[in-house]
Amino acid sequence: MKLDLVELLVVRLPLVQPFVTANGSTTEREVLLVHAIGDDGEGWGECGAETTPAYWWETVSSAREVLPSIARGESVAGHPMAHAAFEMAVLDAELRARNTSLAAHLGASRDRVTATATAGFEDDVESFLGAGYRSLKVKVTPDRPLLRISWSDEIVTQVDANGTYAREPGRVRELDELGLLAIEQPLATEDLSGHAALSRELRTTVCLDESVSSLDALDAAIAHRAAGAMTIKPARLGGIAAAHAAHDRCVEAGVVMKVGGLLETGIGRAAALAVAALPGFVWPADLSASDRYWREDITDSFVLDASGCLAVPDGPGLGVTVHVDAIERSTVWRNRVQL
Ligand code: MG
Repeated sequence: MKLDLVELLVVRLPLVQPFVTANGSTTEREVLLVHAIGDDGEGWGECGAETTPAYWWETVSSAREVLPSIARGESVAGHPMAHAAFEMAVLDAELRARNTSLAAHLGASRDRVTATATAGFEDDVESFLGAGYRSLKVKVTPDRPLLRISWSDEIVTQVDANGTYAREPGRVRELDELGLLAIEQPLATEDLSGHAALSRELRTTVCLDESVSSLDALDAAIAHRAAGAMTIKPARLGGIAAAHAAHDRCVEAGVVMKVGGLLETGIGRAAALAVAALPGFVWPADLSASDRYWREDITDSFVLDASGCLAVPDGPGLGVTVHVDAIERSTVWRNRVQL
């Protein structure tokens, strides 16, 4: 499809409640959106970057700066989240024009994906169980470990340390008796040998997240046998095609995978659900219903079904109806790139 115009918009959306992790507290989210308009239709993309580099080096500002060049087809090294946002918008436009869903385009094998509620330090886990989640992820640090699980063992539970056990690696063992599905990123991003040692020692599967920062990093982690499971965040790898490649590499290596979340709006969530429906993503996705984070999403809401799953959109493109009026109301910055 020939693109005529790429519109970049930053929307500011309040969270239902603050999300508090080892990386800080988030009370609202500024999200950079890409609206690609071509001769045969239009599409939307979302950038995973946040306003600060607390979790990942790219920011809304850095993506804003490079996206006009990416849209013009100029060479832009690095900036995977900016590239991913543009790729998503163009793919959405092309697939809508071809009347094909992203899930079908990727070769998805399921129409529902088990959702996970991620509990920050100030969240009430019981409220997530009451809302129907069957999979939980609890943020931990050595100062705020999970000591026991007070809910039914039918609930799949993981912990996510965001690398904070690097200063007290021996204490990861405290988490090994809890019957967890996984201990996510206990050690530092670069510490593949430390994670490999933990993987050999622990009964619980070690899952990498921050360490999976690129396809090369994924290959290195697989070669080191650093973990039995990997978190694939499409935006961080450079987009949907890169996530598909990561999926294939993990399947070949016999490594379990899940799709990671980045406080997405419905646009990014739709794309992530299509990826999570690929056959190798056997673990619950780190994706939740819209009302976990947003008072008002910018697409039709994603709602949990009775078994704690989210439906994979099957409409053309991303398969969600984008609420342009909600986007207009919350837009705080925009830039039009005429092509
Ligand atoms: Mg994580």
